[in-house]
Amino acid sequence: LLSALKVRKSYGGVEVLKGISLAVNPGQVMCLLGPSGSGKSTFLRCINHLERIDGGRISVGGELVGYAQRGDRIFEMNSREVARQRRGIGMVFQRFNLFPHMTALENITAAPIGVRRISRQRAKDRGLELLDRVGLASLAQSYPAQLSGGQQQRVAIARALAMDPQLLLFDEPTSALDPELVGDVLDVMRTLAADGMTMVVVTHEIGFARGAADVVVFMDGGVVVESGPPAEVLENPQSPRTRAFLDSVM
Ligand code: ATP
Ligand code: MG
Repeated sequence: LLSALKVRKSYGGVEVLKGISLAVNPGQVMCLLGPSGSGKSTFLRCINHLERIDGGRISVGGELVGYAQRGDRIFEMNSREVARQRRGIGMVFQRFNLFPHMTALENITAAPIGVRRISRQRAKDRGLELLDRVGLASLAQSYPAQLSGGQQQRVAIARALAMDPQLLLFDEPTSALDPELVGDVLDVMRTLAADGMTMVVVTHEIGFARGAADVVVFMDGGVVVESGPPAEVLENPQSPRTRAFLDSVM
């Protein structure tokens, strides 16, 4: 469903992604691990074309991201096309970024109503269903400030799901949370994974990666150092860099 081939990205003269190649099949969960500055967030941002890549290619659902190919020439998509593509790729950030002046339910229905032109009633029904799915049915009318960080993050996940994305990207979704709130968010993510959602998750939660990931990728210095099933990468890492990183987070 997702494939990245030799993806390169520089800021100024500094190359932060130095040829990232990886693939995620439909229904798979990939966990991306790596030290600070290794390029994990940059790579996620490239997947939905929030960043423009300098080399290589990324495709989602069989479509090149951000570019269209005609014959053997490649053109950058216009912003409308990029927006259309991005709707199929949900993103959940470390900071939940909910709209503070909207209730939980309104946060979830805003884009389906405004962008997908779904009727208010249908969007609301679906929104309530999604809130129920993340365990927050009773808090539909609460404002973000009235919710705990973990509840806000679960609303953010429901909001992403409301667009029926084919791929969900998570960038350290639990690292801004108090420790006692992390479990509920990870439980929701585990349920999504079990339901067959295709996900790329940047996380330092090794327990989550061990239990939920099909593939674990360890990045360092803008390259993929090693990747494979969790049992291999986490229990028996081949690279000393992976070993040192795992020692530091476990
Ligand atoms: P962390 O674990 O701290 O979130 P990360 O693996 O997500 O780290 P990135 O945020 O992708 O790392 O950053 C990779 C490198 O790119 C870093 O050296 C960072 O300073 C640099 N970088 C990221 N975004 C920009 C930007 N907009 N302009 C310039 N440099 C940037
Ligand atoms: Mg990051």
